[in-house]
Amino acid sequence: MHLATVIWTLVICMDNRLQGRNAEKIADFFGIKPGQFEGLTYADPSLWITNPHRWWHRLTFWWLLWRVSVKAHHVKGVVLTGHSGCGGCKIKRGNLDPATEKRLIIADLRRSATKIKRHYPHLEVRIGFVTIHDDKPTLGAEELPEITIEEIPLAA
Ligand SMILES: [Zn+2]
Repeated sequence: MHLATVIWTLVICMDNRLQGRNAEKIADFFGIKPGQFEGLTYADPSLWITNPHRWWHRLTFWWLLWRVSVKAHHVKGVVLTGHSGCGGCKIKRGNLDPATEKRLIIADLRRSATKIKRHYPHLEVRIGFVTIHDDKPTLGAEELPEITIEEIPLAA
């Protein structure tokens, strides 16, 4: 068996609303097809690198990125995403208004991207913010909510 070498690491929140077709929708937004990415999930992925829930979680992230994504799978890049209404952010930072939450998450995503680029300059790093539209009616309990994805420039 030979793994394709042109794959991406997609870092998304473990939030169930972002799994399955929504994870593929996020990947597709960045031009990545199903089967071209591997997913890493965490409770508020923007915190995983900059301000993890427990300090040693950071070691898990870097081990996975280095040992699996870079060395074993030869990924060409990493897409880091955060999202609105994030339970992981709430655990860490308490209740925030949506604008403050988004601003803090984007700042963490940018810091994380900078750190990844410093360690692995050859990797392409892109960041995105996903807005979850929980307010829109869905067809049934099995339906995932609609999402809107935006790419965030690496520099403010
Ligand atoms: Zn989340």
